[in-house]
Amino acid sequence: MGTTEERLQNLDFQNTNFGSENYCFDTLALHAGLVADPSTGAMLPPIYQTTTYRQEAVGKDKGFTYSRSGNPTVSALERRLAALEGAEFCTCYATGLAATTALCLALLRSGDRVVCSQAVYGGTVRLFQQVLGPFGVVADFVDTADESVLRKSLAEKPTRFVFVETPANPTLKLTDIEVTARLAHEAGALLVVDNTLLTPALQRPFELHADVVLHSTTKFIEGHNATVGGALITSDTTLHERFTFARNAIGAIQSPFPAWLTLQGVKTLGLRMAQHSENALRVARFLEDHPKVTRLLYPGLESFPQFELAQRQQTTGGALIAFEVEGGVTAGINLMNSVRLCALAENLGAAETLITHPASMTHADVPAEQRQAAGITDGLVRLSVGLENPLDLISDLEQALGRKQAA
Ligand code: PLP
Repeated sequence: MGTTEERLQNLDFQNTNFGSENYCFDTLALHAGLVADPSTGAMLPPIYQTTTYRQEAVGKDKGFTYSRSGNPTVSALERRLAALEGAEFCTCYATGLAATTALCLALLRSGDRVVCSQAVYGGTVRLFQQVLGPFGVVADFVDTADESVLRKSLAEKPTRFVFVETPANPTLKLTDIEVTARLAHEAGALLVVDNTLLTPALQRPFELHADVVLHSTTKFIEGHNATVGGALITSDTTLHERFTFARNAIGAIQSPFPAWLTLQGVKTLGLRMAQHSENALRVARFLEDHPKVTRLLYPGLESFPQFELAQRQQTTGGALIAFEVEGGVTAGINLMNSVRLCALAENLGAAETLITHPASMTHADVPAEQRQAAGITDGLVRLSVGLENPLDLISDLEQALGRKQAA
């Protein structure tokens, strides 16, 4: 057994090389980055709830000094997420937006320009425009789904990075990652992909030459509505060093308990994403056939405008559906107020089905004109299909669609 001191030294959850072996995704989700604790055999890593690490001598530590710079539980999650995306490195953050902030502070200086997808999460728009704008960062929002528009925009001015969210929240518009990577690289820019909506279970941006993958782990990665968190993943050593430096300098690291919960959630990521997708397809087919649904967007349906790209770039249609109902904004709001099983909520990517009104909730801070240009109409309803039996979801939506509109 040894002394307490020796046992503590052995509590080193090492990289198991799972990332470099050819294991399948579901195996990596369970094993990558962790071995059972050699001193106790515990299968789950401890929650290292500590700020400080005792050092052997001046200048001699065991890789951890202070939990703002790094924490063993957080590192275990980082090794696993890097392996799942098929990359070398990952840094985890307190939230998804903390990850985006670290990305920007690591890569941008005053006067630098970013080209961003027109439809992205509203908080990303707010960060670029209202927080980084006053520091001299220029963010141009363009239709990255249109190759010629993107090419023209990149030719106009030097660009530090292109930031795409595909599918985009909430319109589900897709951007061709491989084409965007080529255009960005030709223009001397990096490509950052927000892979939150599909996760590496359904979309592999590094195989399509992205430089950085960003996640709000708050969503499907943790998957149980229990934590907020974010991640930046890359195989580029210099970028990783910059992200690590920025995270420490701004103090944006994830806490050990949310990291531990995320490690548990991620074990079932492959299973959950497959079931989310199957359920979403059934709900989307029901909505598509419903006479009161006037517009429906789901990348897994043949009617989706970019169905061919969805087939090529993602494994399934994913868990999100966007739609509008007859009667516009009032009818949409009426529907969201009438559901019983689906929860009206700001989040997406949970085990429970969540329904959202982007114009007044997630994208309320995006100026109305910009929302319209991005296709985020006031009547748009976003559905994040959960893991309930789809029959129950369909009957809930059926009863809500059948309700008379409130006066
Ligand atoms: N990226 C996407 C696609 C999102 O939907 C969100 C949040 O909704 C974020 C990033 C920001 O993540 P967080 O809420 O964890 O800060």
